[in-house]
Amino acid sequence: MSLAQELEPQAQAGTRFRVDEVMHFINGAYTAGTSGRTFDNINPVTGEKTGIIHEALKPEVDAAVTAARQALRGPWGKLSLAQRTNLLHAVADEINRRFDDFLEAEILDTGKPRSLASHIDIPRGAANFKVFADTVKNAPTEAFEFDTPDGNGALNYAVRKPKGVIAVISPWNLPLLLMTWKVGPALACGNTVVVKPSEETPRTTALLGEVMNAVGVPPGVFNVVNGFGPNSAGAYLTEHPGVDGITFTGETRTGEIITQAAAIGLRHVSMECGGKNPGIVFADCDIEKAIEGTMRSVFANCGQVCLGTERVYVERPIFDDFVARLKAGAEGLKLGRPDAPGTNLGPAISAEHQQKILSYYELAKEEGATVITGGGIPEMPDDLKGGAWVEPTILTGLSEDARVVKEEVFGPVCHIQPFDTEDEAIAMANDTRYGLAAAIWTENLTRAHRVAPRLDVGIVWINSWFLRDLRTAFGGAKHSGIGREGGVHGFEFYTELSNICIKL
Ligand code: NAD
Repeated sequence: MSLAQELEPQAQAGTRFRVDEVMHFINGAYTAGTSGRTFDNINPVTGEKTGIIHEALKPEVDAAVTAARQALRGPWGKLSLAQRTNLLHAVADEINRRFDDFLEAEILDTGKPRSLASHIDIPRGAANFKVFADTVKNAPTEAFEFDTPDGNGALNYAVRKPKGVIAVISPWNLPLLLMTWKVGPALACGNTVVVKPSEETPRTTALLGEVMNAVGVPPGVFNVVNGFGPNSAGAYLTEHPGVDGITFTGETRTGEIITQAAAIGLRHVSMECGGKNPGIVFADCDIEKAIEGTMRSVFANCGQVCLGTERVYVERPIFDDFVARLKAGAEGLKLGRPDAPGTNLGPAISAEHQQKILSYYELAKEEGATVITGGGIPEMPDDLKGGAWVEPTILTGLSEDARVVKEEVFGPVCHIQPFDTEDEAIAMANDTRYGLAAAIWTENLTRAHRVAPRLDVGIVWINSWFLRDLRTAFGGAKHSGIGREGGVHGFEFYTELSNICIKL
């Protein structure tokens, strides 16, 4: 009996997502698999256990990849473009219909404020299916005519075909949004997927299985395996020879390991990795706007946003004013339960990540930083003391080669450095191994246009932050990634372009 068959009886029994016992979703059904291994899910708000997660090892990954391969050849591959894209619209509608279920699942996993998850995570998670379905429907391919010696000529035209079985490896900071950002275009382009969500935040990905079944996406098109990276679901999936391409969001070091795994079999990768993003604030900015935007870019989602600003460069005449205003903003943030009125800062994702952030706070002090505000664990009420809380923190006074200025912390913290000239600000902004995003704050648009292209990053915002048009290219330069996703740019990864040459 093959493993897929072995898993089947349990799978058929499991058609419902369970919040307290998160299972894999393979070939259209929930299954605990056969590994017998589980691990705990912890609520970062309180430190309490909220459920168990089944861990996938090789057999479960194998079953998921096999199911994805069969669906590719079978029902999914046979749908017309209109049928496929209509199904993806239905997926988005069903996520929106079950908005509250997704919201509860996301909040339970991440502890983020309800106001944030209901504004960003869930609506954008749903939108990803519609946007990419529409992109695929409307994108042309190329055609060239050319002359031949006999005078009859030839015609070339290109067709885009699905790449095959795509492995999606996603992080914990925006679980539904970043996972659907990849599953949306992958399915729109006709691929099938096996998703390995972060071990910290598996629930919304698992719940999406119910949505797929409800709207009639054929079994095997969308599969989920849970577990960790090394010697677990992540490594087994990315090493699996039945996977044709791997799209990853996470730390640069993990991206390097996955890229090595993908080298066997020359499999395509799309890498969205870490950042140490600069914000450049010129003296001619609108200071209210710059403070409001920098508050969001430093502290939103407890600083756990890949595009967030961790280095702020402020032109000297407004340096003291800017620091004082940002300090007031940070000290006005309200930490608390996701549902408590006014909460706008949640905990770090886990006790482990809390310790990592705190270790950078200590390192900053050792490196000689001035702590403008924060720098430790906040005083929380007794019922929240077990949570992964960290203080929003502002640092100044470090040299540009300090580790805290060079390394990604991924927490609610920034270092603010004064500058005197535009060239100096650009040089400091670019002096990093990362190249994901940057923000420029100035009311002088000539300056903004001059500075933006000189920044070695994939995305520059001028007088804004996190404003995303999903048709535009998204990705990082340098150690922040390989490739671009978004709009038609994702076709480079999610499809094979095949040229057809006709001699006329
Ligand atoms: P991570 O690299 O630790 O984990 C990401 C995913 O990879 C998880 O699902 C994890 O289980 C899996 N994984 C870990 N080791 C693996 C291995 N050897 N083989 C296969 N899979 C493996 O990242 P994280 O801590 O979840 O997320 C935070 C990081 O993600 C930060 O560096 C942040 O900048 C980055 N990020 C980047 C973007 C972007 O778009 N560029 C977006 C969000 C987050």
